[in-house]
Amino acid sequence: MANVAALPIMLKSLRLACIGTHWQTLAKKATAERWVPEHYLAELCAMELATREDKRLQRYHKESGLPPGKTLASFDFSALEGVSLQQINALIQNPHWVEQGENLLLFGASGIGKTHLASSIGYGLVEAGIRVKFSSATHMVQELQQAKQNLGLAEALVKLDKFTVLILDDLGYVKKTAQETSVLFELIAHRYERGTLIITSNQAFKDWDYLFDDSIMTVAAIDRLVHHATIMNCEGESYRRKASLKRMTSAQ
Ligand code: ADP
Ligand code: MG
Repeated sequence: MANVAALPIMLKSLRLACIGTHWQTLAKKATAERWVPEHYLAELCAMELATREDKRLQRYHKESGLPPGKTLASFDFSALEGVSLQQINALIQNPHWVEQGENLLLFGASGIGKTHLASSIGYGLVEAGIRVKFSSATHMVQELQQAKQNLGLAEALVKLDKFTVLILDDLGYVKKTAQETSVLFELIAHRYERGTLIITSNQAFKDWDYLFDDSIMTVAAIDRLVHHATIMNCEGESYRRKASLKRMTSAQ
């Protein structure tokens, strides 16, 4: 017969922390309500699974680096043209495109809400249990460049594969040196058909020549990005400018 006194230790070594905390309280309820053994066991398993799921989501939120508060709930679609709430909801609720490693490219002028939108999608996907990493394109390029200098670029790229979705914010602002361009290209080539990229940029494709070293590289990068991609063009008035105008008027 199993040693009942060793139960806490057994649960610990099985890493069933939640069952370890709740089994006694639940046993009282089970006795009072005359549960059959499998009912009791199922309740305990459900508790353990729910706790694990919560922890996993917390971990995914933390590692995502998504900007705080930039969620769909705080996004106002009324002044935005070219992108609708329905479209964004569809991307979140049916993440088929993410499973296929397809990309999403968000274009539009500065202050229009691209970062906020990309982040909202990121939050929605994390909630759906998808691993997301948000990074400014500049920061990502710096990190990869450093990895390249330490002869660890291939490894750094593979490490990013654990994120099903990589959000590169503000691609237009990446400075152009040959080295920066080359790691950016290698990142795009590495993710191609392997993992989703969500990219925001205030530069239309026709201006991307300035992002890469030569036009062959630009064409190759764009080809890979758009091969399986949704492209959204955000139009309207800059929300940032509107918000500061409003603040100025109310301060007068
Ligand atoms: P972009 O990335 O296009 O330059 P941001 O997403 O950074 O613009 O938006 C600028 C600021 O305005 C941010 O604080 C953002 O949260 C806010 N903002 C932009 N568009 C909206 C919107 N439609 N609803 C609510 N806040 C918005
Ligand atoms: Mg932005």
